[in-house]
Amino acid sequence: MSKLKNKVAVITGANSGIGLATAKLYLKEGARVVLSGRRQEALDEVSKELEGDFITVLADVSKPEDNINLIKEATNKYGNIDILFLNAGIAPIATTTDVTAEHYDEIFNINVKGPILATKEALPKINDGGTILFTNSIVHQKGFDGLGVYSASKGALRAYSRVLTSEVKSRGIRVNSIAPGPIATPLYGKMGLPQDVVEEMGKGFAASVPLGRFGTSEEIANAALFLASDDASYINGVELEIDGGLSQI
Ligand code: NAD
Repeated sequence: MSKLKNKVAVITGANSGIGLATAKLYLKEGARVVLSGRRQEALDEVSKELEGDFITVLADVSKPEDNINLIKEATNKYGNIDILFLNAGIAPIATTTDVTAEHYDEIFNINVKGPILATKEALPKINDGGTILFTNSIVHQKGFDGLGVYSASKGALRAYSRVLTSEVKSRGIRVNSIAPGPIATPLYGKMGLPQDVVEEMGKGFAASVPLGRFGTSEEIANAALFLASDDASYINGVELEIDGGLSQI
């Protein structure tokens, strides 16, 4: 055990779902963890269930000044960063007919601008040999109705991660992405759809997955641990689908 002993990890979107499950696992594996989220109450609430060496930092990833402050607070507390896990994201639904400029801006500001600006701020403070991990999605590999802008944002992030892989090559920093399929997290309740529609959509997703079910946040956290640890020391530049096989059929 202790695969991340004394490593410093910064996780965005750490107060819920995949980010929270990963924070818990990283702490269990000996990391010092900076949990970032955009709601103080949520950060305070999850702090009660965490054990280990951690701090929380309030940051809206769509705001450049918040990304600057996040990295400053993290490094003031723990020194340089070993693992940067850019996980925060939103997935509100809109078909092309319903798309507005505001919808587009909100998704791209959080899902694309946020991780890019956080990476920019963190890069000088990431130890050589460190790891950058993005939570992407399989949505940009398949067509899901109503998720056009979300899919475009995740496709953009995947394109960016390839360039970043090359940009940091002289420092031995590994850049990888996790691409979850349908995972049971609070994300679905935030899509702007009535509960019964969400439930129907969920049944459809589950039925289309070869393994016949949603994944769990813990199953994604296991992959986030693997990719951040030395077990994945020669894995670089990839996007790992964790989707019960959905993207492959
Ligand atoms: P979630 O809603 O539980 O978590 C999302 C997190 O991002 C929350 O902590 C939220 O507060 C945070 N966040 C949102 N906007 C933010 C902002 N402006 N600044 C800072 N934090 C912000 O959902 P989740 O499923 O755990 O989502 C995590 C990531 O996984 C997202 O990037 C999402 O796109 C991706 N993903 C989820 C699924 C799924 O089925 N749940 C599938 C593929 C990809």
